[in-house]
Amino acid sequence: MDVRIDGKRVLADLTALRTIGAYKTGVHKPTFSEPHVKSLEWLVAKLPEAGLAGGIDGIGNVVGTSSRKGPKLLAGSHLESQNYAGWLDGPLGVVYALEAARVINNHAGAGDRAVEVASWCDEEGHFGFFLGSRSFVGGVSEADIDAAIDRTNGETMRAALKRVGFAGRPRVTVEKGRYRGYIEAHIEQGDWLETQKLAIGVVTSIVGIWQFKVTFTGVQNHAGTTRMAIRKDAGVAAVELAHRIKQRFPAIAAERTVWTVGRITLEPGAPSIIPGRAEMLFQIRDADEGVLKRMEAELETLVAESDREGPCRARLEAMSRSIPAKMDESLMAALDRGAEKHAPGKHIRMPSGAGHDAQYLARIMPSSMLFVPSIGGISHHWTENTSDADIVLGAQVYADACEAMLRGAA
Ligand SMILES: [Zn+2]
Repeated sequence: MDVRIDGKRVLADLTALRTIGAYKTGVHKPTFSEPHVKSLEWLVAKLPEAGLAGGIDGIGNVVGTSSRKGPKLLAGSHLESQNYAGWLDGPLGVVYALEAARVINNHAGAGDRAVEVASWCDEEGHFGFFLGSRSFVGGVSEADIDAAIDRTNGETMRAALKRVGFAGRPRVTVEKGRYRGYIEAHIEQGDWLETQKLAIGVVTSIVGIWQFKVTFTGVQNHAGTTRMAIRKDAGVAAVELAHRIKQRFPAIAAERTVWTVGRITLEPGAPSIIPGRAEMLFQIRDADEGVLKRMEAELETLVAESDREGPCRARLEAMSRSIPAKMDESLMAALDRGAEKHAPGKHIRMPSGAGHDAQYLARIMPSSMLFVPSIGGISHHWTENTSDADIVLGAQVYADACEAMLRGAA
């Protein structure tokens, strides 16, 4: 069946979401802020246009469902933003899902099939780690919600849920076997597509992100009177570890493994005091869990070496380990075909170096992602943008792929 999206409607919807919580040319919509809640309400009000019904659940997810009995496809992304960030990170995927649902569900040829639309709460991690999509797949306990705190203002998630009126509502969880699969569109957030003059990225895998904290304990003392030979400088120990990582990691990394010393803090942190304590935040990303395990083992070895050699104590602590996900081959093929039809020769398969809700949906159903170019590769900043032409083209490729997935041609 031939599905034709309405490009003007897609741009108008994205503009409507952009005006809610506008900041310069971007938006400021942290999770459970007033503009975020207004955006969720905006989506709920739009669901009937696609023949769907739904509300906001007990963790801030919106899942619009159809009463049709046939095969279903789940499509979505998120509506909150990073602080003072861009207008497309999240809303693009929600509006593509809404548009595909409108054109497919209202099409005479759809029969008893339907696209269902979701917005996952807190993908941007103001309170935690993919709490919305993880809740939907059954991976969030009540204790997890008890422990969640807004990293910017310290408000607990319980207090925030109460403030916005979602507390006490049931949390929607996936009905086993309901969906053929999941699809999510997103801006690329890098410059791979733009630099190659391509319009569509078909995502093959989503990286796992493993985060660690290394703590060094030395002795705080006077920077003028303490002889070099007897110092136990925690700052030096931290920088030495960073140097060892730089020397040893390349030999065991895979082609696209990346690692980052994101922060080193020294205590007390003054020019005339030898730091008695240092803390290093360290992150490793790869799409292969085996590679991540190998890198973690090497990190353990290096920290143990530092601890053994002294003069400071070094201790490693794992903070979080997200599991990488592979996208489904037949759904990727449906996206390839949609892209070849509307943007011949201008599409490519590529891994995602950023985390996305699709990696949690992939635990329970075949999942897929489509990328559109980010101008200048900029994201998580208010200047984030994509050309109107690329936005409209992406929506058409997405809708064609949804139609094929739903028909079972994928
Ligand atoms: Zn996003």
